[in-house]
Amino acid sequence: MYCRNCGNEVSDKAIMCVACGTPPKAGNRYCYNCKAETTPNATICMKCGVGLRYEMAHGEGRDWLTSLLLCFFLGIFGIHRFYTGHTAIGVVQLITLGGCGIWALVDFIMIIVGSFRDSDGNLLVKRL
Ligand SMILES: [Zn+2]
Ligand SMILES: [Zn+2]
Repeated sequence: MYCRNCGNEVSDKAIMCVACGTPPKAGNRYCYNCKAETTPNATICMKCGVGLRYEMAHGEGRDWLTSLLLCFFLGIFGIHRFYTGHTAIGVVQLITLGGCGIWALVDFIMIIVGSFRDSDGNLLVKRL
């Protein structure tokens, strides 16, 4: 694949681009599949049609909508935390009933505004 930051060809398993020093998947300027230039917020490459969110293309990453619904209905039990891999926090939320609902509410807002990350540090994936 190509580094999404500088377009340099890197190994599929590379966690850092040797040319620019950033994680290859972290950039937003080049298509990782065909090296075409992309706009920063493009989700699909206009040239080859692949999904530009690497996690999305590979079926990884936790689903945003699922997390949102879990948080809304079962947030006080920390279920969305279990789903996103934050098992330890999930247990704490389960015991404290989502910090009396406040913690669950904060998580719910973070999911809505898109700043909630899973335990791998990835943003939740919005699938169509
Ligand atoms: Zn690079
Ligand atoms: Zn492409």
